[in-house]
Amino acid sequence: MVTKKDLLRNLPKVDECIKRLDEDSDPEVPPAIVKLAVQRCIEDQRRRILEGEAIGELSDDAWRQLFTGEIEKQKRPNFRRVINGTGVVIHTNLGRSLLSRKAAEALMQAGAHYSNLEFDLATGKRGSRYSLVEKIICDLTGAEAALVVNNNAAAVLLVLETLARGTEVIVSRGQLVEIGGSFRIPDVMAKSGARLIEVGATNRTHLFDYERAITPETSMLLKVHTSNFRIIGFTSEISAEEMVCLAQRHGLLVMEDLGSGCLVDLSRFGLPKEPTVQEIVKAGVDIVTFSGDKLLGGPQAGIIVGKRDVIERVKKNPLNRALRIDKFTLSSLEMILREYFDSNAALQNIPTLAMLTVSSEKIKKRARALLRRTSKYIADRCVMSLMPTVSRVGGGAMPEYSLPTWAVALEPHDISLNSLETDFRQLPVPLVGRIEHDKFVLDMRTIQEDEIVMVADILSGYFGKGPVS
Ligand SMILES: *Cc1c(COP(=O)(O)O)cnc(C)c1O
Repeated sequence: MVTKKDLLRNLPKVDECIKRLDEDSDPEVPPAIVKLAVQRCIEDQRRRILEGEAIGELSDDAWRQLFTGEIEKQKRPNFRRVINGTGVVIHTNLGRSLLSRKAAEALMQAGAHYSNLEFDLATGKRGSRYSLVEKIICDLTGAEAALVVNNNAAAVLLVLETLARGTEVIVSRGQLVEIGGSFRIPDVMAKSGARLIEVGATNRTHLFDYERAITPETSMLLKVHTSNFRIIGFTSEISAEEMVCLAQRHGLLVMEDLGSGCLVDLSRFGLPKEPTVQEIVKAGVDIVTFSGDKLLGGPQAGIIVGKRDVIERVKKNPLNRALRIDKFTLSSLEMILREYFDSNAALQNIPTLAMLTVSSEKIKKRARALLRRTSKYIADRCVMSLMPTVSRVGGGAMPEYSLPTWAVALEPHDISLNSLETDFRQLPVPLVGRIEHDKFVLDMRTIQEDEIVMVADILSGYFGKGPVS
């Protein structure tokens, strides 16, 4: 019998393994990567021996396979593209919004070349990065002034810190939300130095609740979009207009954290009516904040719009410098915003909007195209079918709304759905779907037109040759 000691002593030497691999290795792979991979495999085998998992020696071939597999893994970037078959359009874990073609090009330009990021081309003097998008945001929203920061969480923190630090801010109990990723209104408010005054009940808050809570210490009334949850049934919240009216009588500011911040009314496509940024600005709210990468469909950013004097104060806050956006965000955000000057074009060119408004017929066509390209190659290992189901908006927007959609459903004969799901996640371009009604489901709403061929190849490769890695 081979003892653990023998097994450990007979583990191959790193240098020798590298030498043997070198004979037919890919010259593109840096030696440091090869060394890391070899070390990792041997270390892993040592651990398996010590834990009693490995009880025999590996053949040269088995080692070689381990090494090449590990080298492949080490070569791959950690941050990679994935195919989103989940049907969640604004999927925060998968990167929220996709950029339009023009926005992606602008981002490449900004990275590869010098730019007028903070250089005023008219005067030759130092310029402000914010001026590159401020006017466009104002033209689109009707606001007097605008500022863009790192994300909406930063926008809320910055605005409260500037305008409400050391004072009282009144918020309805029904709006004290946690957005996820540890963004909670009460916590952000505490960090900003503002004192939160909760009013009303979880399900109903009235104008008189706000009015009674106003003291000489009050500086602001804050309205927060409840985004990812809904209170249904016997509910009541006051409108932005009512809030503005009350605030004006008492000389207070009104802020609204809109969360998603949509610039086009999507209700004509059957989606729920959400107040647009323009409507909130028009209602007289002093300062509005929203995300760049939710319903707007742009890069991660926090957009702040409002009255000029209020925005000027926010711009001067030193915290603004710490939360500022970079040139990549600015370049792509500008191009996304420009799409909105033609709202029909925006619905086509901004992927988030296109995916939310695409007809169910068109999705069905995509699903059929995938079936046609694939089913005959995989038929003996997997049943493939067209399945009506529902997609989600995601990104904390319209949480209770289901978008009717079409999916391709897979029912493999000889592998469990969980293994299938895991294997698809390990692919060079991972394919992410969901398990529903004992099927592995790929929602064709979030799979792009030019990804159909890729998905077809993945499926034929997988079921044709067995599990691939
Ligand atoms: C999403 C959201 C935020 C956070 O926005 P990020 O851009 O993700 O930082 C803040 N408030 C509300 C209401 C939201 O929906």
